[in-house]
Amino acid sequence: MQVFPGIAVSPGIAVGRLRVVDRRRINVSEYPILQEDAILEIERLEVAIADTRTELESLKSHLAETTGEDHLFFIETHLMILSDERLHSETSAIISSNLINAESALHRTLQRYREAFANIEDLYLRERINDVETVIERVLKCMSGEKTEPLPKHESRSIIAAHDITPGDMLQIDRDNVLGIITEIGGRTSHTAILARAFELPAVAGVEGLFEPVLDGAPVIIDGTAGVVVVNPDPETFQVFLNRKHHYEYLESELLKTANLPAVTLDGHEIKLRGNVEIPEEGASVLRHGGIGVGLYRTEILFMNRSKMPDEEEQFLVYRSMLEAIKPFPLTIRTLDAGGDKLLDGMEHAFEQNPVLGMRAIRLSLSMPEEFKKQLRAILRVSAEGAVRIMFPMISGLDEVRAAKELLEEVKLELKVAGVPFDKEIKVGVMIEIPAAVTVADLLAREVDFFSVGTNDLIQYTLAIDRTNEQLSNLYQPMHPAVLRSLRRIVQEAHSAGIEACLCGEMAGEPLYLPVLLGLGYDELSMGAGSLLRVKQIMRRCTRERVIQIADGCFDFATAAEVEMYLKRQITLDVAKSID
Ligand code: PEP
Ligand code: MG
Repeated sequence: MQVFPGIAVSPGIAVGRLRVVDRRRINVSEYPILQEDAILEIERLEVAIADTRTELESLKSHLAETTGEDHLFFIETHLMILSDERLHSETSAIISSNLINAESALHRTLQRYREAFANIEDLYLRERINDVETVIERVLKCMSGEKTEPLPKHESRSIIAAHDITPGDMLQIDRDNVLGIITEIGGRTSHTAILARAFELPAVAGVEGLFEPVLDGAPVIIDGTAGVVVVNPDPETFQVFLNRKHHYEYLESELLKTANLPAVTLDGHEIKLRGNVEIPEEGASVLRHGGIGVGLYRTEILFMNRSKMPDEEEQFLVYRSMLEAIKPFPLTIRTLDAGGDKLLDGMEHAFEQNPVLGMRAIRLSLSMPEEFKKQLRAILRVSAEGAVRIMFPMISGLDEVRAAKELLEEVKLELKVAGVPFDKEIKVGVMIEIPAAVTVADLLAREVDFFSVGTNDLIQYTLAIDRTNEQLSNLYQPMHPAVLRSLRRIVQEAHSAGIEACLCGEMAGEPLYLPVLLGLGYDELSMGAGSLLRVKQIMRRCTRERVIQIADGCFDFATAAEVEMYLKRQITLDVAKSID
């Protein structure tokens, strides 16, 4: 038996046969070349790059035909990396100055990329080195005459293990037979991980030493919740994981049975539970988990990892497939929330000392009205086909709301003149995630149809704690009295203006905070699909009176630690009472 630890990137446990796909790195050997041969080596490099481009283009059209256009952004990324001037010029320069073969020069270029990416602070961007590696592997394979084979057809109960599984592979995977995914590279924010979660396939990344062909066909257990892989499990371990799997599946299936139960408290108070999504595939999962629509669709994912911003038509098609996936429930489309830690490759972002306080989200959209109008047009066109709400991110004050709404009105008029249908009564909301927006919530509430609190950013900006800095994570306190007071004020202002108070930050899916959010009076909570049923289960065991009491009690404490302790005590009390 061998146990391989890794990173848990998609939850669930599966037992099957290991299928090792030979995607190991090509071994590159270095040899000297003559000065006069340098030009030939550079030519070999260019030919291999051109061949790789042809290979990727044909994969792109194959995927477009078989799985649709929605996810082709990763191939765009790979094509963009291939066009990167540095890839060509640095590798050619290494060939000419060091007089070595093209393969090893390319390998040295890859090393430079690795060093540059290792210094990037943002995890998402740092992990994009995986895309660079995949592309360079392809070029190396082309030089060696090998092709990057697509994943083979799978026998039933396969658990695929490969150095890398690209998002393209994921889209082609036979989901009836493949039960899990193990990779040597990648992390939680890789596109492969996002797709694994969207497809509900257990996945573990960052596993080392498992990719030997000799292990192909071995019995294997993958635990995507704990982040561990066991090959050739002994009978006791097998039993332990089998029990764990049954337990996990039992809990999930019991929870799934409640998917159609209404999200109401014991005394009949209803709260809308909706899903947060990034790609249309997640829509089905939101519905299966009982979500009644989408409270946050992060559109920026469509704009990332590509050399050109998506045009109106592409946006329209993707938003429409998202809407189709969750019909007849409503879809809340957030306009582009780029900038800060979410830079777009297709845009020249100015260098900023403090990007998180910089040209981002609504500010960025307002600074490029033509691009913004494309997005608004696409959203409005989709609104003709079902319930769509529009939501502006990172609003700090009234002028931004007015400017955004003015552009929206312009687009409406243009569509009207052109005879293009759209929902004339489309609801417009703002995200409340900047402390200034909390302070002027009364003014904002008069101009919009709903608020949606982005607690991820609201906590970050209220407490001045970088949400991505793991060293400060103990200071990132959702129950800080300043945050609590803001959360209370937002609902109060929304309700006194007669509009809905929604909340779509990660906090919405945290069981401990649920009584507080319910007690404060939030009308809608939106979260990752995986949290919906657990949240509903807890909610159905509460009474409105009790959650109001719990929420009120939080304001008797002066620190986050005290509030958390108080909440845990209240929950223990309630659980003990329910057992009595
Ligand atoms: C938030 O800030 O809470 C939010 C939901 O938006 P994002 O996480 O995309 O910034
Ligand atoms: Mg946010």
